[in-house]
Amino acid sequence: MTLTRRDLAAGSGALLAASTLTAPAVLGQAKPRVVVIGGGPGGATAAKYIARDAGGAIAVTLVEEDETYQTCFHSNLYIGGFKPYDALVHRYDTLVSAYGIILARTRATQVDREKKEVVLSDGRRLPYDRLVLSPGIDLKYDSVPGWSQAAEEIMPHGWKPGRQTQLIREKLDAVPDGGTIVMIAPPNPYRCPPGPYERASMFAHVLMQTNRKQAKIVILDPKESFSKQGVFQPDWEKRYGAMIEWLGPKVHDGIKSVDPKTGTVVTGFETYENCAFVNVIPAQMAGQIARDAGLAPAGGYCAIDPATMKSTADPSIFVLGDACNAGDMPKSAFSANNQAKVAAMIVRSELANGPSFPARYLNTCWSLVDTDDAIKVGGRYEPRDGRIAAIDTFISQPGESDEVRKQTQAENTAWYAAITADMFT
Ligand SMILES: Cc1cc2nc3c(=O)[nH]c(=O)nc-3n(C[C@H](O)[C@H](O)[C@H](O)COP(=O)(O)OP(=O)(O)OC[C@H]3O[C@@H](n4cnc5c(N)ncnc54)[C@H](O)[C@@H]3O)c2cc1C
Repeated sequence: MTLTRRDLAAGSGALLAASTLTAPAVLGQAKPRVVVIGGGPGGATAAKYIARDAGGAIAVTLVEEDETYQTCFHSNLYIGGFKPYDALVHRYDTLVSAYGIILARTRATQVDREKKEVVLSDGRRLPYDRLVLSPGIDLKYDSVPGWSQAAEEIMPHGWKPGRQTQLIREKLDAVPDGGTIVMIAPPNPYRCPPGPYERASMFAHVLMQTNRKQAKIVILDPKESFSKQGVFQPDWEKRYGAMIEWLGPKVHDGIKSVDPKTGTVVTGFETYENCAFVNVIPAQMAGQIARDAGLAPAGGYCAIDPATMKSTADPSIFVLGDACNAGDMPKSAFSANNQAKVAAMIVRSELANGPSFPARYLNTCWSLVDTDDAIKVGGRYEPRDGRIAAIDTFISQPGESDEVRKQTQAENTAWYAAITADMFT
């Protein structure tokens, strides 16, 4: 069954409400139809830029299962006490009221590529001329022996927004002075390469502020090196002394198991018992809807054409953000937002005769180390040899002045305001 305007009006409440129905030509056959799955930096940006710049010539439906979007970006600043949780929460209302986007507030369960239809959780179908997929990541719950989805309440990951982020802060607050926090970092490729290390910085900041100076943070990393390592590590020493200890795989010899009941982490070299808090950040893969659509290899990410952001498996489908393999671009909100603008341009050029230009991409990832002390890494990217390749890159340097670091944090704050306005207003 195909979703119609009347179905939306009669819908179960999972589908959006009155304001949605004022949108012009709901799913009308006369207009080309674009369906976007996922209302994060990839999907919300794509939906807005397609609808706004096509000036009503394209019908855009955004399928998003959650009522609000809660950002993982800047969630570490919430954990560090620099932001209230409310500041991470955003709504989709303006996308509906200002741009006529139809919001289907439900889960997409299947992409029928043959019929070019998206199946919703209640069985209804949305036909599309182009589909934009930006479902983010799924966690590999079996990637850390002894850990599981059932254990995520006790050993939280905090790598998806909402309750998980808040649990991390609660667990941090309960750490006694002298207690040990173990963070298990993820293998590449994963969402937000500097994220675990910014988070460790925020743990240390809170512990210092609350006079728990004998607590320790041990990062067990499956990687030989990590993003901005040459800047993070000297900064940690300067700010937090020996509180943060990073151990690469040659030192810890692998994570053998965790036991959520006893708070134990066993590595090849050492057993950490009675940990005050274990933060397991597991391996990751493209969100389920993209994997089920046959756009990603098992347990992996979707291949894309770097000039268009189209899936290499299906020219009617674009895959954005964390779910795709974007070459040298990291999995970040900044990247997803940028990729969405390339996809929106291509969609408008194909469906509404809009202009198109060669794809160009940008990214910057800022990380807060301590109050008014932020560092950054980033670059400019272009399609090269079938992939998105870095053309210029930059990175903060160890030993920069306090003024530079303060300015870097001011950029970080301004970026958050700008990207969330770009996505949702
Ligand atoms: C701790 C942490 C810190 C970070 N800090 C930064 C930072 O400082 N800067 C930065 O640029 N990035 C940062 N990131 C990374 C950033 O959050 C992600 O890269 C970004 O959210 C990816 O956007 P996306 O659109 O690909 O996916 P998401 O943001 O995950 O959005 C996907 C959306 O799709 C919806 N969805 C999924 N499947 C379905 C379905 N089947 N049906 C309906 N809806 C569905 C989900 O509900 C979700 O709203 C951070 C991440 C973490 C974890």
